[in-house]
Amino acid sequence: MVGRFPVRERLQKFQICQEMDCVVCGAGVENIQHLFFECLYSSRVLQEVKKWLQWRTPATSIRGLMSNIRHSKHNSFKKGVLIVTLAAMSYQIWLNRNEVLWQFRCKQAGSIVGALNHELNVKRRGNGGKFVLLVVIRV
Ligand SMILES: [Zn+2]
Repeated sequence: MVGRFPVRERLQKFQICQEMDCVVCGAGVENIQHLFFECLYSSRVLQEVKKWLQWRTPATSIRGLMSNIRHSKHNSFKKGVLIVTLAAMSYQIWLNRNEVLWQFRCKQAGSIVGALNHELNVKRRGNGGKFVLLVVIRV
């Protein structure tokens, strides 16, 4: 599924698109790794998301982030929250990419966290010094 994502690098292989540069930053080839993790914009979004979730990991790739989740001491619920948040973050990055492409507007990286907060309705509650994340996915 991930390999079938219609990023410019893939579209160019099928001669659907002539350009391969990243729509958002223009500084790299728009492929999955660049668009969602290496792009300066996506890196900032990920930093904001990590700060929002108090997620302290140096990982910046999907493989590293998933490995961090898998090997962490978080309970299964929090692991699920992190995975859902990564999926929602990727969706927001994709929406922003398309908005840049078609509307010539780019959201601030910090506003993606606001959109995620709205989509996922993540709330933190103190629980004996620990945080409990509650997630309600809006449909
Ligand atoms: Zn980029």
